[in-house]
Amino acid sequence: MTTSATTPHATARYRTTAHGTQVVIPTRCRRGQHTLSAETSRIRETDDQLHVTCLACLANAETDHTWSLATHGRKAISAEFDDQPYHDIIRTAR
Ligand SMILES: [Zn+2]
Repeated sequence: MTTSATTPHATARYRTTAHGTQVVIPTRCRRGQHTLSAETSRIRETDDQLHVTCLACLANAETDHTWSLATHGRKAISAEFDDQPYHDIIRTAR
């Protein structure tokens, strides 16, 4: 039995800094059209997943507006935007 509504696209990557654990979030939205930042995305955390919604895609009523990253219950103190750990799932804009 699973309580997760969605299958994650990837496992969330973490970095340990002097301040604590940071979760790494892709800078590209799922459609590859927008740059994600603290201002252009909304991050929601559930028990075992992090959901990162592209606000521009949400406003356009796109269905694939949200990254779901498996956290396995890890907690981060802050988020950092970086594509590098996610190059295998990122679609590059044309
Ligand atoms: Zn987008």
